Amino acid sequence: AVELRGVNAWFGSQHVLRAIDLAVAPAERIVICGPSGSGKSTLIRCINGLVPHQAGTIRVGGRAPGAAGPRIGMVFQAFNLFPHLTVLENCTLAPIHVGRMERRAAEDLARRHLERVRILGQAGKHPAQLSGGQQQRVAIARALCMSPEVMLFDEPTSALDPEMVQEVLDTLVGLAEGGMTMLCVTHEMGFARQVADRVVFMDEGQILEDAPPREFFASPRHPRARSFLGRIP
Ligand code: ATP
Ligand code: MG
Repeated sequence: AVELRGVNAWFGSQHVLRAIDLAVAPAERIVICGPSGSGKSTLIRCINGLVPHQAGTIRVGGRAPGAAGPRIGMVFQAFNLFPHLTVLENCTLAPIHVGRMERRAAEDLARRHLERVRILGQAGKHPAQLSGGQQQRVAIARALCMSPEVMLFDEPTSALDPEMVQEVLDTLVGLAEGGMTMLCVTHEMGFARQVADRVVFMDEGQILEDAPPREFFASPRHPRARSFLGRIP
């Protein structure tokens, strides 16, 4: 579903992605972790075309990301909902204006996805009237409304109050069980153990480990991965 080959990216003179090779099969779940500044967000943003890469190739569903490219869902740390729109309108905006869907069909679709993240009851509210966990679930529903081939998450729970982390993780587990192809940057190692097919560990712009969770947690090969895991609660 996703293939990166020899991807390199620079910010000015800073080399932030170094020879990244990563292949993700359909319905596969990848957790990406690593220290701050290691390039995790940049990697995710390159995959959906938000950040350009200067060398190598990125394919999603066989196509390069970009305007006419594959549909890619993205959920950020900060929920990034449109504050002046209701929950339902947040979910129908892109399907209507980008996907050229009829309003009625877009609303039906949005209701299905809001139901799926168990927040349909709040469809008429504005984002400010919701808790952080609820807002993040709306952000997930909104991304799903574009019928993405892949969902990318960049620390979707790290801006949440602790009591709201689990409801968002549960939503992600549901998505994973539904067969969605997912790449998720997170330091929630319990989630990684539970749903990841592979854990990718990045450091200084490189992938140092790419292994099934059992293997990764039991015996990380790279010393940097070992010391990273030692610092995670
Ligand atoms: P964190 O865990 O803190 O989110 P990260 O692994 O996501 O870190 P990135 O945000 O990908 O790291 O950043 C990788 C490197 O690229 C960092 O050194 C960062 O300062 C730099 N960087 C990121 N975005 C930009 C930008 N827009 N312009 C210049 N440098 C950037
Ligand atoms: Mg980041």
